[in-house]
Amino acid sequence: MLTSAEIRQQFLDFFRSKGHEIVPSAPIVVKNDPTLLFTNAGMNQFKDYFLGNKKPPYTRVADTQKCLRVSGKHNDLEEVGVDTYHHTMFEMLGNWSFGDYFKAEAIAWSWELLTEVYKLDKSRLYVTVFEGDAKENLPPSKIALDAWKKIVAEEHILFGNKKDNFWEMGDTGPCGPCSEIHVDMRSDEERALIPGKELVNKDHPQVIEIWNNVFIQYNRKKDGSLEPLPSRHVDTGMGFERLVRVIQNKKSNYDTDVFTGTIAATEAITGKKYDYSDSKEAVAFRVIADHIRAIAFTIADGQLPSNTGAGYVIRRILRRAVRYYFSYLDYKQPLLFRLLPVIGKQFEHVFPELEKQLDFVSKVVKEEEDAFLKTLDKGLKRIDDIIAQSVNKTINGRAAFELFDTYGFPADLTRLIAAEQQMDIDEEGFKAEMQQQKDRSRAATAIDTEDWVVLDEFALNEFVGYDSLEIQTKVTKYRKVKAKGKEAFQLVLEATPFYAESGGQVGDTGTLEINDETIVITDTKKENNLIIHFADTIPAHLNGPVFAKVDLGKRKATEVHHSATHLLHAALRKVLGTHVAQKGSLVNSEHLRFDFSHFAKVTDEEIARIETIVNRKIRENAPVIIKEMSKEDAVAMGAMALFGEKYGDTVRVVIIDPTYSIELCGGTHVGNTGELGLFKIKHESAVAAGVRRIEAVSGAAAASFVDEHMATLAAVKEMLKNPKDISKAVEHLVADNTELKKRIESLEARQLNILKEELLQKVQLIHGINFIGALVDVSNADALKKLSFDIKSSLSNYVAVLVSNIDGKAAVAVSLDETVVNDKKLEAPKIIKEHVAPLIKGGGGGQKTLATAGGQDASNLSKVIEQVKSLL
Ligand code: ATP
Ligand code: MG
Repeated sequence: MLTSAEIRQQFLDFFRSKGHEIVPSAPIVVKNDPTLLFTNAGMNQFKDYFLGNKKPPYTRVADTQKCLRVSGKHNDLEEVGVDTYHHTMFEMLGNWSFGDYFKAEAIAWSWELLTEVYKLDKSRLYVTVFEGDAKENLPPSKIALDAWKKIVAEEHILFGNKKDNFWEMGDTGPCGPCSEIHVDMRSDEERALIPGKELVNKDHPQVIEIWNNVFIQYNRKKDGSLEPLPSRHVDTGMGFERLVRVIQNKKSNYDTDVFTGTIAATEAITGKKYDYSDSKEAVAFRVIADHIRAIAFTIADGQLPSNTGAGYVIRRILRRAVRYYFSYLDYKQPLLFRLLPVIGKQFEHVFPELEKQLDFVSKVVKEEEDAFLKTLDKGLKRIDDIIAQSVNKTINGRAAFELFDTYGFPADLTRLIAAEQQMDIDEEGFKAEMQQQKDRSRAATAIDTEDWVVLDEFALNEFVGYDSLEIQTKVTKYRKVKAKGKEAFQLVLEATPFYAESGGQVGDTGTLEINDETIVITDTKKENNLIIHFADTIPAHLNGPVFAKVDLGKRKATEVHHSATHLLHAALRKVLGTHVAQKGSLVNSEHLRFDFSHFAKVTDEEIARIETIVNRKIRENAPVIIKEMSKEDAVAMGAMALFGEKYGDTVRVVIIDPTYSIELCGGTHVGNTGELGLFKIKHESAVAAGVRRIEAVSGAAAASFVDEHMATLAAVKEMLKNPKDISKAVEHLVADNTELKKRIESLEARQLNILKEELLQKVQLIHGINFIGALVDVSNADALKKLSFDIKSSLSNYVAVLVSNIDGKAAVAVSLDETVVNDKKLEAPKIIKEHVAPLIKGGGGGQKTLATAGGQDASNLSKVIEQVKSLL
């Protein structure tokens, strides 16, 4: 039997033999495309070739692409694990023609590969062809039909409507009719009963689509209309896991060697057995085997779990997996992270980025699992409370939503726990709460983007800002966008000096002068490769020459921080070790922020060494050399390649002393390190498990940082009367202070002692009880208490009431000894509450034999003494 690795290799070899260049998978996490969080199809990385924004280096390519379908137009999450052929993360094998061959060749080759290389049984294969769509004015696919008719028996060719046979990536973008290939995996008996063609595209678990040949011919626009593209392309996608299952002749993707390793490892950890059924327990095994791949590869591509955007999608997948083992495998400790070595090894030669970062990914996953298990635990306690308080055996919608929103309990988990207590949840109420939240968040983030108004269709969109900061150019297209009720504009220029935000470096700001009007560019961003300039207003007429000018001061200060980031990265690896890898970065004119993998706090001593290394490099005034070369040459040179970055075939390499720092980088830099002047680290902290953050400043920002510190120091010095050595002076000050405190304490103790002796002289005998009532002069209420204790050790059968005016407020201590408590039925707290508190407008309490009180009113202190005395 062919292994999955062999099957993948045969696919690539086949298309190589048909003149295709084999390219690597793009990262699963998408950067620079606001319409997409994750790669959801093999074609995503080629979108610009289809749209004509960029010229492809090869006209025929093939690859295996990591895809994730859990958000947006393609979302299979709820199916995953429940069925046996939809995954969150899967590999899509694909071959492409960019304006080269078209339908006839694509169709013939797909058939050749399946039936001659993989030797699939033709009688089990069905193909579909687009029947056309009158509303969209789309004709039936005649070319595809003719191509199929040549090789496939007519009763195995079916027609499909727009839903199944017209492929679209998202709401807008490249699209076109498609032709699918389906396989009928049922037994011969079942096939005899119902012909396979009746089950195609009917969600039958054994009659499944494996390959889709899409013929990209249109661009779907925002207004819903279709615009024909200048050239026509082929875009195919075959689900690798499904193909393996068909070739290995299994009933489920999970029974192939793609998943059996992970399932066996899960069995070993949990002590449970996977039984291939539809039971919740079996679903749990499949969910775990599936989700761990999505989690592992997205984190390895640089996306950490978080509370927003792509990070939140990963967090949700991870939590879904935790819930399944927690609820159905009865396993209550972190489990997913223990499966990572199995996957790392399995994909070592296909997607090496996981194996290379295994420690890091494990740390992140374990931390997430730990945190969520704790939340689940808290949620379970909360559920107990909710159940205890609920009426008529239902958990109301609001409570169910609180469990979902605060504790991550989806309705099915709450339902399950409720059912165990013979309870229901209010489904309608829950849905209503859910909808309200969706509406709230949609209103907060909705961005309405209009179609481009194109002024010059064939113009280039070129970045010239490495060399020039001011140029004459023209606007080629623009559009209006609306977010949170505010209107703004986006413009594209033929050539632009404006750097678009990427690689952590912020976008440039500046001005455009058009027809004697000047508009402000507030930001510059990329959408795929398109450089988009943001402006709040635009002039009435956009035709004509445009003078584009970048804010020079801001750009220069930003470059200083970008070059400083490279120096810092290299110094970190020298001081902390080569496990340090970039996990995120922000570079602007004010500072730099650099996140990197490292498992401990960076000590002050290490920070000092890092600063020293960077500052030495600055003083060397090393030239910053920038070269374009092939990716292979760059890696051979020792460039630090960042996982999760998408690079073309030629890369830009930034070299600061070839023995010190070589990085792939598209950003802008200073000419020589001397321009940085100075480098200072401001702050070091943790951002996530195994990820530290350093904030630092360089150039003018570093000078201001030092100035501020010097100013503080000068102020301190002046307050200390300008000593020669400030630290010595402060040391003395602190020592003096401690010494003085000690002396005051001992003086006070002596003073209290004298006071006590005086009080003992003034004892009055009233009805056979020793009474002391006195106004004393002390600095705090504690002294009164201490005095009362001291009296206790020198007197018996007594009642003492000590009062004091401390800074205008009343302080009182009443004390008596056990015999008085027993004989007279007097208790100190009672005396305070009933007789003292009202007189001083305050309150207090304490023990039977000693209680204290404080109050706002110090004018009745002698009355207090009289009042207590009268009780005897
Ligand atoms: P289906 O109808 O089965 O969900 P699809 O129409 O969404 O498939 P396409 O968008 O055409 O699929 O993707 C191309 C191929 O990728 C499919 O033929 C299938 O083999 C595979 N594929 C699609 N979605 C998944 C998934 N969630 N898990 C695994 N493979 C998938
Ligand atoms: Mg689908």
